[in-house]
Amino acid sequence: MRPLVAGNWKMNGLASSLAELVALKAALAAKAPACDVLVCPPFTLLAQAAVVKDGFALGGQDCSAKEGGAFTGDISASMLKDAGASHVIVGHSERRQYHGERDGDVAAKAGAAWRAGLGAIICIGETEAQRYAGDANNICASQVDGSVPGAATAANTTIAYEPVWAIGTGRTPTTADIIAMHGHIRNCLVRRLGEAGRGIRILYGGSVKPDNAADILNLPEVNGALVGGASLKASDFLSIITALKQV
Ligand code: PEP
Repeated sequence: MRPLVAGNWKMNGLASSLAELVALKAALAAKAPACDVLVCPPFTLLAQAAVVKDGFALGGQDCSAKEGGAFTGDISASMLKDAGASHVIVGHSERRQYHGERDGDVAAKAGAAWRAGLGAIICIGETEAQRYAGDANNICASQVDGSVPGAATAANTTIAYEPVWAIGTGRTPTTADIIAMHGHIRNCLVRRLGEAGRGIRILYGGSVKPDNAADILNLPEVNGALVGGASLKASDFLSIITALKQV
């Protein structure tokens, strides 16, 4: 399975930030990465980023479950595709937390992404309180059941396991905990999807940085990373990409 390293710029980036993508493109052209590379800038930069894009793909950070119409401020999956995206993140914990998105909403967004021809990166992960309560496995299992539509395949879906307490905090689970949770999520995917569940990439996300990337990205069942803050600078993002061992 070829890993994927995806950058989530969140609500960061102006036209001047496209220089980071120019630098990323040059570095990837100079040395081919051992993984697929994806950048998810804000919607406003997608079309301009598509002009620069080479050696990496582009994604949106969210999409509407609707195809179009009177939904002020929303962006459809076909708009993302039209602007140059091949993927979209759905169900990020910040969408779940600040916009009240629930598993059913996330599954509907993944379906909309597929209908537009986009790959869905479906985010799941427990809060700190849930982990301390010993509920992390149950929470992730129920998020897989509720957020991942039954027609998910390796071609149309990627899972990002992002413990909420690790996002933007500089804290990460132990490598043993990451291995255990990724194995658990794999089992949940196979239970839900059958053989198709074996081929779906499971990314780790949450405070992946240049100095911990090699330790995290080369773990069993870790098929890449979803990177927030450290994806904003091409040099940091490249250090993470190159931390992946060539296979
Ligand atoms: C994220 O937002 O998906 C993320 C993983 O953020 P960070 O890398 O900054 O923790």
